[in-house]
Amino acid sequence: MNENETTGFEHFGLSAEVMQGITECGFKSPSPIQQQTIPLLLEGRDMIGQAHTGTGKTAAFGLPSISRLKKTGEVEMLVITPTRELAMQVSDELYRYGKYADINTTTVYGGQSYARQYERLRRGTPIVVATPGRLLDILSSGKVKSFAPSIVVLDEADEMLDMGFLEDIQKIFTFLPEDRQTLLFSATMPDSIRKLAANILKNPAHISVMNKEKTVKDIDQRYYVIEEQERDDAIIRLIDSFEPTRSIIFCRTKKEVERICTTLIGRGYSAKGLHGDMEQHQREEVMTSFRDGRIYTLVATDVAARGLDVKDVTHVFNYHMPFDSESYIHRIGRTGRAGSKGIAVTLVTPQELRGLNRIQRSIGDVMTQKFIPTLSEVRDENIAKLV
Ligand code: ADP
Ligand code: MG
Repeated sequence: MNENETTGFEHFGLSAEVMQGITECGFKSPSPIQQQTIPLLLEGRDMIGQAHTGTGKTAAFGLPSISRLKKTGEVEMLVITPTRELAMQVSDELYRYGKYADINTTTVYGGQSYARQYERLRRGTPIVVATPGRLLDILSSGKVKSFAPSIVVLDEADEMLDMGFLEDIQKIFTFLPEDRQTLLFSATMPDSIRKLAANILKNPAHISVMNKEKTVKDIDQRYYVIEEQERDDAIIRLIDSFEPTRSIIFCRTKKEVERICTTLIGRGYSAKGLHGDMEQHQREEVMTSFRDGRIYTLVATDVAARGLDVKDVTHVFNYHMPFDSESYIHRIGRTGRAGSKGIAVTLVTPQELRGLNRIQRSIGDVMTQKFIPTLSEVRDENIAKLV
């Protein structure tokens, strides 16, 4: 057998246009979840997929689905995501895969004009990517006459339930055709997800790619024990020492986001905040300048940064320890994506060490303790980098 045929995308039987999109994206071989899902989805099976962020889920459901679109002039595929940022990102990604198949995508989310979204839905873009709240509003209004996607994807379903969208999602499904292919992706599989899946999926294939190795192999995970009042100094010392090209600092609250941003900017660092209370256009501006490299540091809450795929995030800083291991995995999954090694840093007080150990146990002991460099060590390191 030809080696390319066993490692590449060629043997799946994806459409020629989609293959062209894959080539342009530079994908050499399918990721494990893509390997497993693409053949099933091409057959039209329902599927429940468990996988961490950064495993290539968008292409896993996007490539086969786009291959199967009939271009009827109506909406054929609906993807529901927890946040607007994720909706935009998935939409952009799907657009890239479907570019040569002449497949357009539309996003529907809060904070945009209703009129424009109605208009776009009426035009019948083949793919719609939406957040639950706004989509339900629009469907309930009755203003969109024909909305009958034959492929429906719930992306990051556990996040949507955590955000309180269960009821909205259930209602959305009352507007969808019975005859459809339904896919559900989730990083975790609590009972609430299994129940939802049982209600909306028909004879689903179960796929699980919980690649624990990923966190171990591709991310250098460290923790630093500090006193509560040392957090700001520690973060700044670490930024000076690592000199990250692109980093995200995770905070617990929007207040904290704003305070840390102000501190960083006041000390001459290029940073911007991202949290749920910001206007949509502000969020987009922040994301664009972070992606373009005009700012080096994004200071964000968990929700705002959920699922974001920004290329080359070199460092993730947990200003506070995340509440649980799922959140930890989500956060550090922002770095070390698609083959590049990242560094994930967690600041903990001695009182928080028990919580940290709990997280370590549930992900498999992989963090190493390090010490905040002294000012003179930072200076020496930076001088060494110059020579
Ligand atoms: P997830 O939804 O699982 O978090 P994404 O679908 O956002 O992951 O993919 C993460 C990144 O990996 C994206 O930048 C995507 O373009 C890239 N990617 C996806 N599949 C492949 C592949 N087969 N080879 C290389 N890069 C890939
Ligand atoms: Mg995703």
